[in-house]
Amino acid sequence: MDRSQQLMDRAVKFIPGGVNSPVRACGNVGMAPRFIQGATGPYVIDADSRRYIDYICSWGPMILGHNNPEVLDKVIRACENGLSFGAATEAEVDIAEYICTRIPHVEMIRMVNSGTEAVMSAIRLARGYTKRDKIIKFAGNYHGHSDCLLVDAGSGLMTAGIPGSAGVPAGCTADTLSAVYNDLDSVKKLFEANEGKVAAVIVEPVAANMGVVLPEKGFLKGLRELCTQNGALLIFDEVITGFRLAFGGAAERFKIKPDLVTYGKIIGGGMPVGAYGGRKEIMELVAPLGPVYQAGTLSGNPVAMAAGMEQLKLLAENPDIYSKLEAAGEKLYGGMENLIRQYDLPCTVSHIGSLGCVFFTSAEVKNYELAKTSDTEAFAGYYKFMLEHGIHLAPSQFEAMFLSLAHTDEILDQTLEVFEDYCKSVS
Ligand code: PLP
Repeated sequence: MDRSQQLMDRAVKFIPGGVNSPVRACGNVGMAPRFIQGATGPYVIDADSRRYIDYICSWGPMILGHNNPEVLDKVIRACENGLSFGAATEAEVDIAEYICTRIPHVEMIRMVNSGTEAVMSAIRLARGYTKRDKIIKFAGNYHGHSDCLLVDAGSGLMTAGIPGSAGVPAGCTADTLSAVYNDLDSVKKLFEANEGKVAAVIVEPVAANMGVVLPEKGFLKGLRELCTQNGALLIFDEVITGFRLAFGGAAERFKIKPDLVTYGKIIGGGMPVGAYGGRKEIMELVAPLGPVYQAGTLSGNPVAMAAGMEQLKLLAENPDIYSKLEAAGEKLYGGMENLIRQYDLPCTVSHIGSLGCVFFTSAEVKNYELAKTSDTEAFAGYYKFMLEHGIHLAPSQFEAMFLSLAHTDEILDQTLEVFEDYCKSVS
């Protein structure tokens, strides 16, 4: 028995399902998860010291590769000054100023500790600002695990085959309206049926929690227009896409200006950080300035700020990083697409920049219902094959692959070789 299995046998006795986040569990692909003891560049190393090329990248934060020496150095130096003060620090001002002076639609920003917190707070703020209660979200989008957003949710819920969670009172989701991704008509109808009541539309501008699903041409622009016409706020949940698809995220890439935006993952350089920001006039309603209450003992933690700031600086001050990530995405996902065609497999590859996934369906996936046509058993076979051949993927059809700067041509070629072997094995 390998050490990951031994650790899992111990873990299940004390931790529900053996994991601290359900997306790490590998029950749906029929095995124990790899327990990771360390990581460097494009690799993670498991408890048996086996090395894998990693396409999880901590679910997005490690965009520079694991254990980036510059980020690590800043973290060590920050630790030497103290781990937490629960008081204002210069590091918080530095990172807020750095972001607000580089991303035009973020005039003010508030740091929190996770993507869940960021989204939960942005929703509260949108409701406080508009004095309306209803929100529109999209089936298959995931916005963290706060009560009101666990409706037709993607990510771990989709993997488990459930739309929401037990323990959420019906009242908490009564004001959450679910629309169809890439279907503006479905949004329009919800606005019409709830005239003057919708506070905000929240969307993953590129959906990356039902596999990767791209917005069709005109979808995001249409959302912007519908929100403006109906006096509702447009919230881009850029927890995955922020600082990844461009420094200014999907908003910059698609040239759409949201009213509020939420960040997580990359913004913390690997430390637990989230943030929400947007128009000053809206952000000024947040306590202690305004009546929308939101707080956090460890928010803006100095070690986390040091990691995030260094990572953001490296991204903003070396813009060729983004062209390198684009080229890496083209090479890997384009290469996979070619192999799927060559071996005539009933799969499609969906990708943008450094994000992508293989869907085990021949349907062109545009939304939640189409994503659900995927053959999850075939995915499990693919996952196991890739793992056995040294490639560490997210253990679900409904999660993305994340590329980093450390995924060099050589690493991508090795991955494509394994992928070709997989294609041969099933064709
Ligand atoms: N929003 C999106 C788009 C996400 O992908 C996630 C997590 O994957 C979240 C929010 C929640 O973030 P966290 O897991 O940091 O709470």
